[in-house]
Amino acid sequence: MLLEVRDLHVEFRTRDGVAHAVNGVTYGVDAGETLAVLGESGSGKSVTAQAVMGILDAPPGRITAGEIRFRDEELLTLKEEERRRVRGAGMAMIFQDALSALNPVLTVGDQLGEMFTVHRGMSRGKARAEAVRLMDRVRIPAAAQRVGDYPHQFSGGMRQRIMIAMALALGPDLIIADEPTTALDVTVQAQVMDLLAELQREYDMGLVLITHDLGVVADVADRIAVMYAGRIVESAPVHDIYKHPAHPYTKGLLDSIPRLDRKGRELYAIKGLPPGLTRIPPGCAFHPRCPMARDVCRTDVPPLYEVSGDRGSACHFWRECLDG
Ligand code: SF4
Repeated sequence: MLLEVRDLHVEFRTRDGVAHAVNGVTYGVDAGETLAVLGESGSGKSVTAQAVMGILDAPPGRITAGEIRFRDEELLTLKEEERRRVRGAGMAMIFQDALSALNPVLTVGDQLGEMFTVHRGMSRGKARAEAVRLMDRVRIPAAAQRVGDYPHQFSGGMRQRIMIAMALALGPDLIIADEPTTALDVTVQAQVMDLLAELQREYDMGLVLITHDLGVVADVADRIAVMYAGRIVESAPVHDIYKHPAHPYTKGLLDSIPRLDRKGRELYAIKGLPPGLTRIPPGCAFHPRCPMARDVCRTDVPPLYEVSGDRGSACHFWRECLDG
């Protein structure tokens, strides 16, 4: 396994008390595999990714338990300079908002080139040539002419391509993409996702794709891990989840996607809001919003039940959900 996260716990000290952002997350990604981590905002998906990358805001954040193994090396015991070695050359991250992730006062060529001058000791001339090659690879038209342009001179989609180029620069084995297309319109979203999927196949990288949008992942993910209140509530191969969800939360997310065959019908919405992480409900954290909730759900935390060899659901009544 390229990346293995085991029983990870992360908390934040806030004025309202301790926020339990990640509560025992376990997942893995292999080379050439795409894992989509899906959940509403505050579900812990981005915090888990930040812990994996070693960029958690700490303090106030703190990893209180768990393991993160990358290429069989435990990352949580590494010193910061060793973590830096893993970041970039081993794993890289693509952020949602390219405009704030890129430096507005440096040209994209300088920012891409810096990856090669700093990490590979290349001359400025060679680094610039590498920057053009990468811009070409992510299909930025007229790359050689545009390498001296600033981030604001590019469209949102092109800026996201530059972010992808930066992530690819040092040839990582794993890319974590945190909502990489959320800020883009639908057509550009599809183009950027196609490019990511193509590059992942070409370089045989592992890809962790963080998103709140089930529609984005259907064509690109191999597996989906659905998160709620800091836990994985369902984990399964992508087609199984779409056809037969085994958790009421996943089912609710699927039912709330507009579909042509349900034209004219009111769109389903999961009632209520995700819980505050300083006051996660007892038992199953989803119970206040769950149409299937019963007494046991209010007291007993459901473990991740094995649905089949490669599927799990944290619902006491996953069989009924699967049948229904
Ligand atoms: Fe709903 Fe109960 Fe299953 Fe939680 S355990 S998802 S509350 S049925």
